[in-house]
Amino acid sequence: MDALPERRPATNSGIVASYRARTPRSEALATEARTLLPSGIAHDSRNVDPYGVYIDRAAGPHKWDVDGHRYVDFFGGHGALILGHGNPVVTAAVSAALSRGTQFGASHADEIAWALAIQRLVPSAERVRFTSSGTEATLMALRLARAFTGRERIVRFKGHFHGWHDHMTSGYSNHFDGSPTPGVINGIASATTLLEPGDLAAATACFAAHNDIAAVILEPTGSSFGQVPIDPEFLHGLRRLCDAHGVLLVFDEVITGFRVTSGGAQAAFGIKPDLSSFAKIVAGGLPGAAVAGRKDILDLLDFAAMAAAGREKIGHPGTFNANPLSAAAGIACLGILAETDAVERATATAGRLRLALNEELARAGVNWAIYGTFSGFHLFLNPEGRTIDPLAFDPMQCSLTELKTQPARLASRLRVALLLHGVDTNGRIGGFTSATHTDDDIAETAEAFRNSIAMLRAEGEL
Ligand code: PMP
Repeated sequence: MDALPERRPATNSGIVASYRARTPRSEALATEARTLLPSGIAHDSRNVDPYGVYIDRAAGPHKWDVDGHRYVDFFGGHGALILGHGNPVVTAAVSAALSRGTQFGASHADEIAWALAIQRLVPSAERVRFTSSGTEATLMALRLARAFTGRERIVRFKGHFHGWHDHMTSGYSNHFDGSPTPGVINGIASATTLLEPGDLAAATACFAAHNDIAAVILEPTGSSFGQVPIDPEFLHGLRRLCDAHGVLLVFDEVITGFRVTSGGAQAAFGIKPDLSSFAKIVAGGLPGAAVAGRKDILDLLDFAAMAAAGREKIGHPGTFNANPLSAAAGIACLGILAETDAVERATATAGRLRLALNEELARAGVNWAIYGTFSGFHLFLNPEGRTIDPLAFDPMQCSLTELKTQPARLASRLRVALLLHGVDTNGRIGGFTSATHTDDDIAETAEAFRNSIAMLRAEGEL
């Protein structure tokens, strides 16, 4: 017999009750989904209490749920949609590709055009190998680094996310001591060293203490697109350390790529990593990713180069690597980013959004702040009750723990209150702007934020 649908705990929250009343079709779907999918979802970040909205369609900066409500979307396809939903040029390119076939089991010309589109924006991409997800791209980057250097250790930073493969699970949201998370073997966890982000002295000491470091990998604007920002000087310091110790520098540009600038964080800060991982924007809103970088390193994937060197190559299959639909979307999207000011527009919009939301906080006398860089924003929920001016908040003065800690119920209620008022953010109440968000969207979001704060106050959460 099938298990009964998971029972949700009763709550006396008016926010939750109003949300349930407004989204009955989503609730029905969520109830059914829980009989089939763990927690009823396909990605941990879609775990919303009491349930997330089910989306029916999306266009530009908006999406509509199955109950017919429109949302200003700052989830932004997990960061993939810098051009918003359904960009007409991207959609036309994908439709044309679809009519020609989805999987040839053979090379096709768009693989070349896609690699050229990447290289045009990211000169460090001397060679490109496509994968299907960012997780696979960072996995390959680390494997390349180990094979290239003949060393095993990977250095990472607490809170930085690089996908969910075995090397990357400890130290993202827990297991900061580096111990393995469930299902990961000790050997992998112990070959990874976790450091404090932004602490060059700690990195210097680590490099001096270990002669087995293959690579250091990081999110170049700090974890979760700068939720815990790092000083670009730290990146320059790491570059110098890597050069001194023969360690490869891997920029995980899965989010920052083609978003911080059209050339990613590496172009913004003038640093050439040895390897980079790209996903999300690189594939124009479809599944797709790449590891790119120095030719001599990616030669480890090259049959002829390895035969000539008398070395065993790294194997790399992958049914949907550079599939024609993702390639078409990627080429179209990167072309637009190269030829228009879309990235700059998304960045400018985020700046205006952060200002508008901080003005709401200041007006309401709430001791939180909205901060962020480029086309991102984050909410600081001030877990230690600092006295702050939201309009002058500097996250560089706060610790990793302080920036990452959010009272769970408060964040959850705020998320649901915002949904109730037609705004979708990520679970940490942050998100991304796209080139399609307008000042009307900002005004709507500010009003939703104001009304949500009022609701939280009314039910004693604030
Ligand atoms: N690296 C970073 C910085 C990411 O943000 C993500 C996904 N959010 C990944 C890697 C993993 O990418 P994917 O979800 O495509 O596996």
